[in-house]
Amino acid sequence: MKEKIKETLFELIRIKSVDGNFEELKKVADFAEGYLKNAPVIKRWERNGKHSIYASLSEFPRVVFVGHLDVVDAEDKQFNPVIEGDSIYGRGALDMKGPDAVMLELARTLIDSGKRPAVAFLFTTDEEVGSEDGVEWLLKKDEINAEFAVIPDGGENFNLVVAGKGVLHFKVSCRGKATHGSRVWEGENAIEKCIKIYGDMKHSGLFPQEPCNVEDHWHNTINLGKLVGGDSVNRVPDHAEMYIDTRFVKPYTVKTFKERLLSFVPSDAEFEVISYGEPVETPLDNPYLLSMKESVREVIGREPGFVKEHGATDARFFEEKGIHSVILYPVGGNIHGKDEWVSLDSLVKLYNIFERFVEKALG
Ligand SMILES: [Zn+2]
Repeated sequence: MKEKIKETLFELIRIKSVDGNFEELKKVADFAEGYLKNAPVIKRWERNGKHSIYASLSEFPRVVFVGHLDVVDAEDKQFNPVIEGDSIYGRGALDMKGPDAVMLELARTLIDSGKRPAVAFLFTTDEEVGSEDGVEWLLKKDEINAEFAVIPDGGENFNLVVAGKGVLHFKVSCRGKATHGSRVWEGENAIEKCIKIYGDMKHSGLFPQEPCNVEDHWHNTINLGKLVGGDSVNRVPDHAEMYIDTRFVKPYTVKTFKERLLSFVPSDAEFEVISYGEPVETPLDNPYLLSMKESVREVIGREPGFVKEHGATDARFFEEKGIHSVILYPVGGNIHGKDEWVSLDSLVKLYNIFERFVEKALG
């Protein structure tokens, strides 16, 4: 299996499946289809040039394994995989063509075995750009259903990610009244209005100020990422826009968190949501989670930790449909960086973990 995983991963890395490269996005989905084509149920979609492919071993799968086959862009040489000792270097080695290779091999092995556990596999090609045409769309359309999702796209060293922060990105636009910078009393400064709204939000008590002394920073956060407005030093600006990134934890939901933020926006300013996602929380006694924990322990010889993830993952789209999930990564590093790598030995372990998990949870 080690050799097969390595070969599959090498093939995947060589496909330059980056945003906008429609030919290669199709090619990588075709490549995955080759592993899945004999599954009892197989579906494929294309939306805005992004391909998704789904294979199920049973009509009513209970667990779905989820992978994305797209990667962030890199120098050309990173699309030529290299192995040094146990480490495979290349774009997507860890995020997440390594785990994809494991899932493709597992899918093919299960399909060929003739066994029919209630498991499905989903591969998309737009996670790095927000999953709008992949996981999000498929779940909203009810194309995918399951009781539990396994997403090997986060965490580290086999620890199990069981919680994720919610996210709300929005834009606030303010209008003012332009006048000459020497006669400010005749105008209204739109940039100052924006800054006041931001200050009111930031100091409302919703967001602990850093340093917060909370070790894991499991609290709401706010970031003013972009501020645009005005046109000249000696003019009072009559327009301004700010783009704000907030992350939040339960018990807030997108709806209640948005309502709190809206209370700081006066009626003459505009508030526009850019994107959002619910916070994720898998109960620690979820039976699938416990099966995964046991499988990890059996394979790596130690108890995996339960950890939390600050960044948003595809898990949020599953959570919105009431489907709990677990996220875990093998050993590797430098995601999105120059020397992205994964340990081949740990990919073999990931394979063994998933194989056991399917047997325990669905056997
Ligand atoms: Zn903090």
